[in-house]
Amino acid sequence: MATIGLIGGMSWESTAVYYRLLNEGVRERAGGLRSADLLLHSLDFAPIAEMQAQGDWAAAGAALAESGRRLERAGASCLVLCTNTMHKVADRIIGATKLPFLHLADVTARAILASASRRPLLLATRFTMEQDFYRDRLKAFGVEALVPPAEDRNEVHRIIYEELCRGRVESASRAQYRAIVERAVREQGADGVILGCTEITLLVSQAEFSVPVFDTTALHVTAALDYAGEVESVAA
Ligand code: GLU
Repeated sequence: MATIGLIGGMSWESTAVYYRLLNEGVRERAGGLRSADLLLHSLDFAPIAEMQAQGDWAAAGAALAESGRRLERAGASCLVLCTNTMHKVADRIIGATKLPFLHLADVTARAILASASRRPLLLATRFTMEQDFYRDRLKAFGVEALVPPAEDRNEVHRIIYEELCRGRVESASRAQYRAIVERAVREQGADGVILGCTEITLLVSQAEFSVPVFDTTALHVTAALDYAGEVESVAA
């Protein structure tokens, strides 16, 4: 049986969604009383968010590498890092253990390639929207992600840290996200939208948009379930 290792807590609001979706997914696939076999290391987000704000990615990478090692020692069979932003330090985590690492940008890129979308709008933290680590990873698959203009990026980022990561889901913010996407469809030719931060799924869903939505939290969960399913079928 594969034990899914989750590096979470960034924020715990989205990690709780992973926990629920993983368990619901196992129930849907296997039925009965089956539930997810997983290990969760949930970090305290405040010091990590401070490292992000200070640009101290080395310290953040060291903390997450240690988290990966702890999960490996505890018996995890793969690693799932429950945040897009912290994939900036994915290589540190990958280098710290022998475990397969289910990279969120790869999972997202594959879902986009399986759709008709080729110019999706990336909604995420400013780190993810403005730095290269995530968009370049998508680009390696042939996916050219667009980002909103600076003012909209600031709002998307602010709503993540000031509201969603603190458990606040506001309808005014939902309307703002909808307006940002509509503008990008009209003015930039966006033909899809990546919910590229694992909390955004708490605020909006496909129902809000005319273009296809790529929900990174849900896609990551599906990839983890597929991985665990493959391990189980090989063992059977
Ligand atoms: N969970 C978020 C993400 O997917 C943002 C919080 C963080 O910076 O880790 O990017």
